[in-house]
Amino acid sequence: MSIIAKDVVKKYKNQYAVNGVSFEINQGEIVGFIGPNGAGKSTMMKIICAYISATSGIVLVNGYDVKTQSIQVRRSIGYLPENNPLYLDMYVKEYLAFVSGIYGLGKTSSKRVNEMIDATGLGNEQHKKIGSLSKGYRQRVGLAQALIHDPKVLILDEPTTGLDPNQIIEIRNLISEVGKSKTVLFSTHIMQEAEAICNRTMIINKGKIIANTGVDDIQHQEQTITVEFNAPIEEAVLLSIPDVIQVKAINHSKWIIYSHNDIRETLFRVAVEHGLAVLGMQQHTKTLEEIFHELTQS
Ligand code: ADP
Ligand code: MG
Repeated sequence: MSIIAKDVVKKYKNQYAVNGVSFEINQGEIVGFIGPNGAGKSTMMKIICAYISATSGIVLVNGYDVKTQSIQVRRSIGYLPENNPLYLDMYVKEYLAFVSGIYGLGKTSSKRVNEMIDATGLGNEQHKKIGSLSKGYRQRVGLAQALIHDPKVLILDEPTTGLDPNQIIEIRNLISEVGKSKTVLFSTHIMQEAEAICNRTMIINKGKIIANTGVDDIQHQEQTITVEFNAPIEEAVLLSIPDVIQVKAINHSKWIIYSHNDIRETLFRVAVEHGLAVLGMQQHTKTLEEIFHELTQS
């Protein structure tokens, strides 16, 4: 297990920024941490990175306790903080060498710096001042510094916020590429982003995890089908189909059916059993955007 969080609470005066968060992230997973502003994403990430301490609860990163083994935790984590604070007066290569010095990379430092410049596509920018780079390239520098000590775990706090659409795609591709060999937890408030790059999403709202499932699972949790038969069908028949949650009649032969799973095949069989024909069927899987909206509306 790469990251284990158990009952994590962070309280500021009388406000809970994180309020009883538990989850586990396996090695190699790319997990999207999704929630509206103020949900507690950054706070939780800072706790995982041993930047701030939790009020209570346990966090283990690669088996190291963030409270008692913070140095080991920081060594095994690459962290891209929100708003990516960088030294704008430093040159790209100089900055990466500086960061590698902090991690004590010693002799391997210059090789590692060059590798990271290649990996993040900073070849043409390496001799420029960070302050002169576009936001997209600054994010690359942020990713390069997070990766320099070859950490097993990457924590990326809103890595694409503030980028233009092309830059967003570039950074997402970079995260997907890097994620092949690392455990990645990245936060975002953009649903499509999670759909695009992660295996799993955790939705956080008001300091609590309110959903934690695979991207496919979360979408398959609830489906809506509009079905039209050639003749009326009893409501009770539809309700007796396994996985059906609720049905609504548009008229007696046309229905909207809410179900847990894809029940289209079953619907065909039920129609045949009752001597009916299916004239049309339309399935609507909720987008993560819709699910997120519903879950965080309260
Ligand atoms: P997110 O990253 O999801 O937008 P944050 O973790 O930054 O959310 O913040 C969660 C909540 O905790 C917010 O209500 C925020 O105002 C509060 N908060 C965060 N940091 C502090 C702090 N240092 N002092 C007081 N309140 C804080
Ligand atoms: Mg934040």
